[in-house]
Amino acid sequence: MAHVVLDKDGVMANFLGGFAAYLRAKGHHHDYPTPTEYNFAHQWDLTPEQFQYQMLEFAADRGYRDLDPIGDLTVLYGLVGHRVTVATKRFSRPQHRGIVAGDSLNWLWDHNVSFDNFALVQDKDVVDGDIFVDDAPSNILALRAAGKRAIIFDQPWNRSLKGERVFNLGQFVDLVNS
Ligand SMILES: [Mg+2]
Repeated sequence: MAHVVLDKDGVMANFLGGFAAYLRAKGHHHDYPTPTEYNFAHQWDLTPEQFQYQMLEFAADRGYRDLDPIGDLTVLYGLVGHRVTVATKRFSRPQHRGIVAGDSLNWLWDHNVSFDNFALVQDKDVVDGDIFVDDAPSNILALRAAGKRAIIFDQPWNRSLKGERVFNLGQFVDLVNS
């Protein structure tokens, strides 16, 4: 049995698609191209301050409740027998932390993601897992620096990163079980 640590946004949940739809619904007209960098505010013509503000508004307006899944999440049933932790890093205004935590948990339950533990963390490497999957280069690098096995979930914003990579969650489940 392994302790498997799953990232949520960018791996299970299409945060970017939801955030772009939210901005369009607010009347912001833009193509919102798929970012090729993790810090992508400038690719969407947002200043860092505007980006931060809109992210906080998105969280407050329950944006994390309605994200589309990335691919077929039922493949995660293949993790049965392992210990599964979902670790997510979300920022919000202090008064909205409960909303973001609740919306993130409800999203997982709505999509029948089976897990043993849920961690809302600033630093992923505080979670003591055996194998991690994440889309954020900074998380992957921090986890590897801490001696953990961190698998890259392929996204256009992490292609320059080297090391173990999967292109969907089915491949990750196979890796865990191999
Ligand atoms: Mg992520």
